[in-house]
Amino acid sequence: MSRVYNFAAGPAVLPEEVLKEAQAEMLEYKDTGMSVMEMSHRSKDFQNIIDAAEQDLRDLMNIPDNYKVLFIQGGGNTQFAMVPMNLMKNRVADYIITGQWAKKAWKEAQIFGTANAIASSEDKTFSYIPDCSDLPVDENADYVYICMNNTIYGTCFHELPNTKGKDLVADISSCFLSGPLDVSKFGILWGGVQKNVGPAGLAIAIVREDLIREDVLPYTPTMLKYKTYADKGSLYNTPPCYNIYICGKVFKWLKAMGGLEVMQKRNEEKAKVLYDFLDSSKLFKSTVRPDCRSLMNVPFVTGDKDLDAKFIAEAKENGLVSLKGHRTVGGMRASIYNAMPKAGVEKLVQFMEKFEKENLK
Ligand SMILES: *Cc1c(COP(=O)(O)O)cnc(C)c1O
Repeated sequence: MSRVYNFAAGPAVLPEEVLKEAQAEMLEYKDTGMSVMEMSHRSKDFQNIIDAAEQDLRDLMNIPDNYKVLFIQGGGNTQFAMVPMNLMKNRVADYIITGQWAKKAWKEAQIFGTANAIASSEDKTFSYIPDCSDLPVDENADYVYICMNNTIYGTCFHELPNTKGKDLVADISSCFLSGPLDVSKFGILWGGVQKNVGPAGLAIAIVREDLIREDVLPYTPTMLKYKTYADKGSLYNTPPCYNIYICGKVFKWLKAMGGLEVMQKRNEEKAKVLYDFLDSSKLFKSTVRPDCRSLMNVPFVTGDKDLDAKFIAEAKENGLVSLKGHRTVGGMRASIYNAMPKAGVEKLVQFMEKFEKENLK
C-alpha cells in the first residue's frame, strides 16, 4: 500500500485512523453481522450512530440548545436553494461576494427574490475579504450571507461582517471544524462535508430554531424544508447512512485529538510552514492578501504557466498530488485540511525548495 499526500480541495483527505476503523468494520459493524451500508436506517444500531454523531458535533462546536443539527442530502449546492426557500420571508437577502461559491449562492437566491450583492472582492480576483464593517444592509433583508472560507481563492473571514441586526448565514464547507466558532453569532451555519469532515453528498446545517419555519416559500418541496429534517431527526427519508457514520467517526477522531482549540493550533502551525516559505521564496508566491489568508486552502503561483505545470507533474511523481489550482486562479493550490498531517506540508515545502533551486533562473 502506498498512500500519497493528497492536497485536493474536495473530496479530500480523511484521517487514516478513520479509514482503517471503517475498513475493520466493513463486513461486520459491532455484533450486527452486517455493514453499516446494509443496515436499516430505522434500526437501533443506526439510531445510535446518528445520535452519537449529533452529540459529538454538539460537544465539539459547543452548539447551543436552541440550534438544530440537520443532516441533509445534496451537498453544498442544495443549500444555496434551501437557504432562500426557507428564510426569504420578505423576499430580500444580502450577499457578500468573496468567490465562486458565494456567487453561486447569490445567483441561486435570485430565483426566489431580490438578492443584493452588498460587497464584493471580484475586482481583484477574490484575493481579499472586503471591509464589512459598514455595509448597505437592506432594511428588509431576511438575512446576510457569507462564504466563510473561500476554497478556491484561499481567503477566510477572520472577522464577521456587521449585519446590522440581520441574521447571518454562513457556508462553512471548507473550514468546518478547523477551529472554534461562536455558533450563537449565526442564524444558520452549514457545510458540505466533503472538504473537511467526510464523504461527498451530505451537508450538515446548524439552524437556530426560530428559523425553522412552516411558512417557507410556496412550492418548496418537502425535502427542501429544514422543518422536515428538524421534526424527524434527519430521518424523514432514508438518509445517507454511511456518510453520517463516517462523519461520526471523524467527530470522534477530532475529540480524541483534543477538540477544536487544538485543531486550530495545529492548523495554524501547519499553514505557517507553507506561508513562511511562500513569503520568503523567490520563485513561488501567495496570491492572497496576508491578513485574509485561509488556514485550509493555500493557492500559490510561479507566474509562469509552463513552470507551474512542471511543478505539478514533478510533485505528483513525489507523492504530492492534486496540487493543480482552480482555473480562475491558475497555478497551484494546496488544501491542508484537518486530516493533512504536518509532515505532508513539510514534505511539500521541502519539495518546493528543491524545485526552486533547480528552476530559478
Ligand atoms: C465545495 C464547496 C461547495 C459546493 O459543494 P457541493 O457539495 O459540490 O455542492 C460550496 N461551498 C463551498 C465553500 C465549497 O468549498
